[in-house]
Amino acid sequence: MSPSGQIYLLSGPPGVGKSTIAARVRRDMPDLAYSVSLTTRPPRPGEKGGKDYYFLSREEFLKKVEQGEVAEYAEIFGNLYGTSEKVLRAELDQGRDLFLDTDVDGAAQLRQRFPDGVFIFLLPPNRAELEKRLRGRGTEDEAQVTNRLARFNYELAAAHDYTHVVVNDDLENAVAQVKAIITADRAADQHRTERHREFIDSMIKE
Ligand code: ADP
Ligand code: 5GP
Repeated sequence: MSPSGQIYLLSGPPGVGKSTIAARVRRDMPDLAYSVSLTTRPPRPGEKGGKDYYFLSREEFLKKVEQGEVAEYAEIFGNLYGTSEKVLRAELDQGRDLFLDTDVDGAAQLRQRFPDGVFIFLLPPNRAELEKRLRGRGTEDEAQVTNRLARFNYELAAAHDYTHVVVNDDLENAVAQVKAIITADRAADQHRTERHREFIDSMIKE
């Protein structure tokens, strides 16, 4: 049997803190593979292709979809976002656990395929704080901020489908909770009886 890694997926409304928390988890858990997403949205100042996203034209993205190279994708605010099938397969087939960040539609597609995956939904402490963070980030104009806030209810309605919910009020606390969820899941897997069958059998004296 080939090894297969676990899926740890983070979703939540724009501005809630997904990228901030993902960066911290990646730094603190370097053995976790991270899936850099594909997108047709233009890079924000400071964003680097291959690090923050793979930036593609719409034509390039749709060609990849046609060729089965996109594991899941969704259209958000007029741009396409998706996960590379190649990255997903390469990491999981090598037994590496994969951490990714998708919207709720992408998560729904991956949930079908990985029903035992860990799906974490990040919530803001309240609506006003979400709006403050989104504006405070300063990467969108007013119309884009309004668009993103309008999507909040749609994303919230999907929160019940997730295995875990974390409220990102205090950042340190939220990072610790996400890491604890991942650590607990990994530990649970390590301790499944099946994994210890040979060890147990070797101790049985005839
Ligand atoms: P997302 O990736 O979900 O769109 P970001 O990670 O870009 O969100 O965070 C949006 C803004 O909120 C950023 O300016 C970030 O520094 C800030 N932020 C994230 N978490 C917190 C927190 N717990 N408290 C206050 N500000 C936060
Ligand atoms: P942003 O443009 O702010 O970086 O991201 C906008 C939205 O795209 C966020 O809600 C984020 O979760 C989503 N997103 C980022 N990467 C992916 C991906 O690979 N697949 C899907 N379906 N959504 C993604």
